[in-house]
Amino acid sequence: MSKIRRVKIGDIFIGGGEKIAVQSMTTAYTADVPKTVAQIKALSEKGCDIVRVAVPDETSAKAIFDIKNQIDIPLVADIHFDYRLALTAMERGVDKIRINPGNIGGEDRAKMVAEEAKRRGIPIRIGVNGGSLDKKLLEKYGSATPEAMVESALEHIQILEKYNFFDTVVSIKASDVKKTIAAYRLARERFSYPLHLGVTEAGTYESGIVKSSIGIGSLLADGIGETIRVSLTDDPVREVEAGRQILRALGLLEGGIEIVSCPTCARCRINLIPIAKELSKRLENVGGNLKVAVMGCAVNGPGEARDADIGVAGGDGEALLFKKGEIVGKIPEDKIIETLLDEIEKMKGTN
Ligand code: SF4
Repeated sequence: MSKIRRVKIGDIFIGGGEKIAVQSMTTAYTADVPKTVAQIKALSEKGCDIVRVAVPDETSAKAIFDIKNQIDIPLVADIHFDYRLALTAMERGVDKIRINPGNIGGEDRAKMVAEEAKRRGIPIRIGVNGGSLDKKLLEKYGSATPEAMVESALEHIQILEKYNFFDTVVSIKASDVKKTIAAYRLARERFSYPLHLGVTEAGTYESGIVKSSIGIGSLLADGIGETIRVSLTDDPVREVEAGRQILRALGLLEGGIEIVSCPTCARCRINLIPIAKELSKRLENVGGNLKVAVMGCAVNGPGEARDADIGVAGGDGEALLFKKGEIVGKIPEDKIIETLLDEIEKMKGTN
């Protein structure tokens, strides 16, 4: 497979070795600018790199100008079927559009969209969804198989290529995790456009996190995927948190504090779970690049704590404090959180 194409979205790049971008989507009515902007700001604060808004009508397409003026992450317009909405969104300054050129009512329209996007330097994401596959492909393959979905993506890609448009990103989503993984693997063999990963309609928080972690995570672990979106039937802020956790678990997130903590067991003589939860909450948006171990006892505790930049291993009502592999002191249980936070603050600048 040739090198993955690098595509510019607003002022960030995806593909070609760039960091994996985390995306999410607003749920407010897009034309309600204050609500949409507030949601985008909340997402951006959590680490969302690219945000998408649905553009169901002309009022929403026109609102893009005002939204863009109040946010500082790239904005994507999600458009289904109506090429005029794509043209308006581009004219109003959107950074990327999501549209399937084969579904907008003819090649003359696809040509218009491709040419306008090219002229303005706006990339296009083709979004193939297993649930809305072309009848012709469903008849050919019997169902929305990975082959059918990749063939659909290629059909859309070829329309854009015909008009010399190559700033394309592709997603091929199914609600079935194994099918999604197979489809993306096949897509990576067939073309070198950046892939936007996601498991569609993944469900509510609990099941959605599991499905997305397996689907997105196994592809990323194989080096497949340039941008991700965790879809949850929940507050989109939680999608961003989950997306970043997936990247962190795979060592793909630059910076931030990683917490390693044990599940506790009968050997644990301190109340570790609330301590780990509180630390995790308070360190959520702290910069730096540190690994912090919060361990319940002396069985695995010292080993993990030594391996981390800083950590504690619980004793009876107290904990040993480790820094860079050395025991540096003993802390009473009620001082563990504050001591770790103070020490982390000191270490951040030196790590
Ligand atoms: S580190 Fe100690 S307390 Fe934590 S799970 Fe392992 S044995 Fe149990």
